[in-house]
Amino acid sequence: MKRYHVTTFGCQMNAHDSERIKGMLEELGLGEAVSQADADVIVFNTCTIREKPDQRFAAHLGNAKMLKRADPEKVIAVGGCYAEAQRERLFDLYPFVDVAFGPGTIPHLAEWLGTGGTAPRGRFGTGEEREFAGGLPMHRERRFQAWVQVSMGCNSVCSYCIVPAVRGREVSRRPGEILAEVDRLADEGVREITLLGQNVNSYGRDLGSSFAELLRAVDAVEGIERIRFTSPHPKDFRRDVIEAMAECDAVCEHAHLPLQSGSTRVLKAMRRTYGRERYLELVGALRAGIPDLALTTDIIVGFPGETERDFEETVEVVQEVGYDGAFTFVYSPRQGTEAAASPDQVPEEVKKVRIERLVEAVQDSALARNRERVGGVEEVLVEGPSRTDATLLRGRTRRNTTVNFAGTSAPGDLVDVRIDDATSTTLKGEQLAAVAA
Ligand code: SAM
Ligand code: SF4
Repeated sequence: MKRYHVTTFGCQMNAHDSERIKGMLEELGLGEAVSQADADVIVFNTCTIREKPDQRFAAHLGNAKMLKRADPEKVIAVGGCYAEAQRERLFDLYPFVDVAFGPGTIPHLAEWLGTGGTAPRGRFGTGEEREFAGGLPMHRERRFQAWVQVSMGCNSVCSYCIVPAVRGREVSRRPGEILAEVDRLADEGVREITLLGQNVNSYGRDLGSSFAELLRAVDAVEGIERIRFTSPHPKDFRRDVIEAMAECDAVCEHAHLPLQSGSTRVLKAMRRTYGRERYLELVGALRAGIPDLALTTDIIVGFPGETERDFEETVEVVQEVGYDGAFTFVYSPRQGTEAAASPDQVPEEVKKVRIERLVEAVQDSALARNRERVGGVEEVLVEGPSRTDATLLRGRTRRNTTVNFAGTSAPGDLVDVRIDDATSTTLKGEQLAAVAA
């Protein structure tokens, strides 16, 4: 049997796409290899949001080139956003690559590889051929959790971001198709789903429906006990979604609400279309509507023209909101975006100082939030053994915090855990009683 190996870079959307790629390769009759060296088909699912994943990918590709030199029969496939961004020159840059595909052309990969994995060289779908990968078989990493794509592409014009250029305009997936997938997943025993889109709250505008309606419909699916979604854009976070979150039992008490910057001036230059005050009002409305809500965010430091005062405003918002966690990024100029052409680039050493300060502020905030949970009881969905202590189990709360705990349950169980300790990223505790699965 021929074997494949998939390496994934970047975001949850890519991790989900990789599950589809793997499922599709398995349907072609290939098995999963433990390493690139053991694989007949080597796939890279790439990201180009920042420079770092680009560099990591280049290092991996060097290794694949050597493997191909030793065994020219190996097929090298490169997919995802980097492939799409470099489509004009990918095969010139890397002549040993056999097949390339963009984020919207995963369904074609199987056709191109052919049964058994013999690839015609150089296929690459065009933007117009974009398709949802939802109908493809899926190789899920976890039996009780699944991602479900609700839309592809993005209509925003954030001046730092390459996503609209590589993933195209936003297209919503039909609600019937999404619900059929959720039904199928529930039948297979999935208890938690995460709805995925670049801007989930603008879902449905092109179809005459809305994200709030979708949340309510998914909430009604028997067997789905937790619903998450990522990412919403603050500009589109309307009251109807807050009400749906509050009223739907399965929708978790967690919102990932990208801030990007706490300075209204910088937000304007980023073309985010909200300012600091509007963002804080939204946080107030969310907290008023959904008691016990966890808030996480994305923040960029060192955007062109960001002054010390602008950065301080970001730290102030972190402290004022009291985030439960944040993905923090150093601004990375992406070729072709508006911000990359700005003459006011912030020096690397300044970015470094700011990111360290920001990470500290986020950790302080998250630690304070997690400490508030100590002494209480949390419902935990068990995922497996703890990664840090083999005698413990690991799972996540409805608010999306990882818990390491002493207990006897199996993956997929929902159990009550009494929390007795906290760090900035995890909780620790002891299982009270397992709720029947
Ligand atoms: N669509 C989502 C959103 O708007 O929140 C996520 C987009 S992106 C995959 C995830 C995060 O990457 C963004 O929220 C932003 O913080 C960060 N990001 C995007 N472009 C960046 C850049 N050029 N440099 C640094 N961080 C960037
Ligand atoms: Fe990029 Fe902005 Fe779209 Fe998010 S909303 S994907 S940051 S352009």
